Amino acid sequence: MAAQEILQLGSEILRQKAKRVPKGMRGLRKLVDRMFATMDTASGIGLAAPQIGVSLRVIVVDADEVRMALVNPEIVKTSEECILDEEGCLSYSSYYGPVNRYQSVVVKGRSLEGKEIRIRATDLLARVFQHEIDHLDGTLFLDRLDDPEQLYRVEPETESDSPAEDS
Ligand code: ZN
Repeated sequence: MAAQEILQLGSEILRQKAKRVPKGMRGLRKLVDRMFATMDTASGIGLAAPQIGVSLRVIVVDADEVRMALVNPEIVKTSEECILDEEGCLSYSSYYGPVNRYQSVVVKGRSLEGKEIRIRATDLLARVFQHEIDHLDGTLFLDRLDDPEQLYRVEPETESDSPAEDS
């Protein structure tokens, strides 16, 4: 399954609220396969369907040894504690900034087979879930910076030294 082009900031679809996936939707597995291939090719740790031009509530994550796809994901519980950490996005290449996220979340969704899944995530994985679910509502990490001035660019040639991972 070939990787796809990742839409960049400025694409309208990144700003739209994605639609819920109806039960028994055809082509869901193909979509998820394409999302995994695209995320892996970009060395990402998460990807949302709108990033490849599909306005549906589907995400894939690969962080903290959890690799999974989640359909219609929702955050149903959050910790009181928040953590400020550097974040980047595959749809806004080379830019990073400090974003406050809940330290832990409980995410509910469905598997490809339609089975209900509940997962408690902490730290990096919790951050990835929050970032990807934001994508489904048309929100990007730069919207969550306290101050737009905090956004900084890491030149591609030094990207291996970058402080953050992209999702
Ligand atoms: Zn992103």
